[in-house]
Amino acid sequence: MDPDNCLFCKIVRGDLPSHAVYEDEHTYAFLDINPVSRGHTLVIPKSHAETLTEMDERETQAVFRTVRNLTAKIEAELDPQGVNLLQNNGDAAGQEVEHVHVHIIPRYPNDGFDFDFEQGSLDDDEAARLRDALQ
Ligand code: 5GP
Ligand code: ZN
Repeated sequence: MDPDNCLFCKIVRGDLPSHAVYEDEHTYAFLDINPVSRGHTLVIPKSHAETLTEMDERETQAVFRTVRNLTAKIEAELDPQGVNLLQNNGDAAGQEVEHVHVHIIPRYPNDGFDFDFEQGSLDDDEAARLRDALQ
């Protein structure tokens, strides 16, 4: 993806409007245009990266530092009962904007947002294979 044509790069450059809530050298945070809940915020790196693993170490640290600090701010100012972080990578994961972003979603009673998935169970053989692959 050419950063010239990227929606979130255009927002960072100021070519498209956004409601910014935080900005520093490496990160930019703004309100989601279609909020799931009151205060739904997106945190992005300023330089273009499509998915989480395309970011370098410095950007990764900066993004998650901003996520942490903004979550604290949201907790203090909006008094949610909880906060979900959501970070989608790739079509199959529901990523619609091809510039890495972390959703901060404050949670309130009866806010209508739900993770509706069934969980399986992990058997010992599969656990061993996965552990060997991942550790
Ligand atoms: P994704 O599905 O890629 O994880 O989430 C993309 C998010 O970006 C969605 O929640 C959507 O509402 C938000 N979004 C898409 N276009 C714009 C825009 O132009 N401005 C803002 N502020 N948010 C946007
Ligand atoms: Zn971009």
